[in-house]
Amino acid sequence: MNRGRSAEGAADAERCCAFPGVSASGPDGLEEACDRVAERRAKHRRRSGNDSAEGDAIGSESRLLGIDLGGTKTVVALALGDRIAASQRFPTRPSGRPERDIEAIVAACRRLLADAGVAPADVDCVGVSAPGPMDSAREYVVGPPNLAGWDRVPLRALLADALGRPVAMENDANAMVLAEWRHGAGRGFRDVAAITMSTGVGVGLILGGRLHRGETGNAGEFGHSTLEFDGEPCSCGLRGCVEAYVGGAAWTRRLRALAPPDSFASRLAGGRDALRPEHVVAAAREGDTFATDEMERFNHYLARAVTNLVFALAPQVVVLGTIPTAAGEALCLEPVRAQVAERTWSELVAQLRICGSELGDRRAELAGVSVAREALSGGAQGRSAGVDGSIVA
Ligand SMILES: [Zn+2]
Repeated sequence: MNRGRSAEGAADAERCCAFPGVSASGPDGLEEACDRVAERRAKHRRRSGNDSAEGDAIGSESRLLGIDLGGTKTVVALALGDRIAASQRFPTRPSGRPERDIEAIVAACRRLLADAGVAPADVDCVGVSAPGPMDSAREYVVGPPNLAGWDRVPLRALLADALGRPVAMENDANAMVLAEWRHGAGRGFRDVAAITMSTGVGVGLILGGRLHRGETGNAGEFGHSTLEFDGEPCSCGLRGCVEAYVGGAAWTRRLRALAPPDSFASRLAGGRDALRPEHVVAAAREGDTFATDEMERFNHYLARAVTNLVFALAPQVVVLGTIPTAAGEALCLEPVRAQVAERTWSELVAQLRICGSELGDRRAELAGVSVAREALSGGAQGRSAGVDGSIVA
């Protein structure tokens, strides 16, 4: 299976036949956007009399639009400087025709900007968090399981054409780690791993203070590394993947197959067929045996995954999103920490922080915006206009 792999360059352009007229040539206009932000920042400094060069290059003077395209909901957000000024969320309902779905996203962006009194031309950069996998140039969304009909959609270029602004795109795991790094539990650290466990499992990595994508852009497909050879079947076609044990969809399937119909968890869900991980979390809090056993199993496999990650990358922080964040300290984070510590060398865990997400409801709003900020920071790095790419702490 090769769901994460894709051709590049000319082959990409050729295979883009479903969207004639769309060129996949990378985020245009980033340089100009950086200049605009730098100019505004300089003006602000002159006005305020603050000549300090410290702080974020993008910082307080940017106007960023974020789009978080999720499997069930889409969130568009406008950030003025470091502040989310406005946001809207609506259900993601794939129509089977991606161009129509994208029109709906663009319309939501235009509404958001109009309501906030910001002209589209005044947006410096648009950042998109989209389900993986995507091609290595981050131009195409390549058949995510939750978006019916989205097979090699040149989302970045389509949005750039429609909105007339530079657009940068990252997979949702990368967007999440950027958001945690800039605004959440990874703030101030240089080596951060963020594991998402909503439908599938993705890992975003900040290594040495930079987003790590790997050569193919799919470095974070850690959800499909193996915990058990010949283990549980995974949606990717392999067996025993991390996702097959701690992914929300896989766990939901298991719960619905195995939960005793009269268990507290099943009753809480209104029937076994409606069981989801959050019902198990709630039932485990009440001491329901089935639910506590399931949490134990989840924690065990999550600890295995984190242990592998820690040995491979020695991160300073591992942020565990979604299910662990909802389950909290006693039910999940403490047992996972203890198991990782047991199976890992003390040198590696002495300074290691394993924690839940700190972003809460702001996660989706910050995901796209953080992608835009990263793109502008990257554009600013190494340039001579007195702009640096430093990070908001
Ligand atoms: Zn897999």
